[in-house]
Amino acid sequence: SSYHKVLEENRQLYNQVQDLKGAIRVYCRVKPFVHDQSDEQHSTVDYVGENGNIMIVNRQKQGKEARKMFTFNKVFGGNTNQEQIYLDTQPLIRSVLDGYNVCIFAYGQTGSGKTYTMSGPDMTTEDTWGVNYRALRDLFELTEARMDVIKYELNGLNVPDASLVSVKCTQDVLHLMRIGHRNRAVGSTALNERSSRSHSVVTVHIRGKEVVSGCSLKGCLHLVDLAGSERVDKSEAVGERLKEAQHINRSLSALGDVISALAQKSTHIPYRNSKLTQVLQDSLGGHAKTLMFVHINPEINAFGETISTLKFAERVASIELGAAKSNK
Ligand code: ADP
Repeated sequence: SSYHKVLEENRQLYNQVQDLKGAIRVYCRVKPFVHDQSDEQHSTVDYVGENGNIMIVNRQKQGKEARKMFTFNKVFGGNTNQEQIYLDTQPLIRSVLDGYNVCIFAYGQTGSGKTYTMSGPDMTTEDTWGVNYRALRDLFELTEARMDVIKYELNGLNVPDASLVSVKCTQDVLHLMRIGHRNRAVGSTALNERSSRSHSVVTVHIRGKEVVSGCSLKGCLHLVDLAGSERVDKSEAVGERLKEAQHINRSLSALGDVISALAQKSTHIPYRNSKLTQVLQDSLGGHAKTLMFVHINPEINAFGETISTLKFAERVASIELGAAKSNK
């Protein structure tokens, strides 16, 4: 019966989600390397190993400075498509419908592919859809498939507007996201035409009620496309733009502080220091499954940012979260 099918699905999912307990998962995605005419241009990604290893190389340097190896839960090379990325994210997304809180965030310098991963380059072609749209489509399809067993309600929340909107289908969500995108596109810096200075957060709250037992559950999904992680001076921002850039860097550094405090198992975790860390508090505090996509641009001129990005990501991966709980 469909009830048993759902139970079996739940069991499989439970097993898949178990291995996510206790740590923030980190996936590294490499933006495709675009060959330049000049022979001097090499990708800084020497190789991507099957076990989540990635070797970064700077051919302009010698010795210890020149190569560095990093290890993450997974590394996706430049030829990975959107569908493959989503396949490795799907179990996490689906666990929201079983009462887990899930947070997925994209980190990296401007132009490294954060928005590509989360939204995709073009909303009108489904093949290139990023995690956001695939996740929402998936959730709607699953709630429909389970309709006889569990009745679900979904609410999509857009921060910082913080408007809570009830959504009934994927189209509603796409519409909301389009508005979110438009709101986000403010100003531009020398590094990127589109806005690299704002965070984009989509939150989906879901509530479910089992038809037979009447038991209820709730889950929550945060999808976060962070502002560019590069140091401010690079973007040549001045005046108002500089102030905004500094402000955004402050919230990223607040995220860094929270992560350090968690890594050191401090008794005080400074969540209150930024809106971003407040939003992510539940997800980082151990009651949720958290996945960070860390993005790197393999161009040689991004070498310095690539190394600091990957070092930050290693720090994130080392954090032990408290016992993961579902709020079923
Ligand atoms: P960010 O959000 O980090 O600033 P974007 O996602 O806007 O970066 O990516 C910068 C540019 O590189 C865009 O034109 C984007 O389409 C392209 N790009 C990024 N990642 C990929 C990818 N995996 N495959 C193809 N093009 C990509």
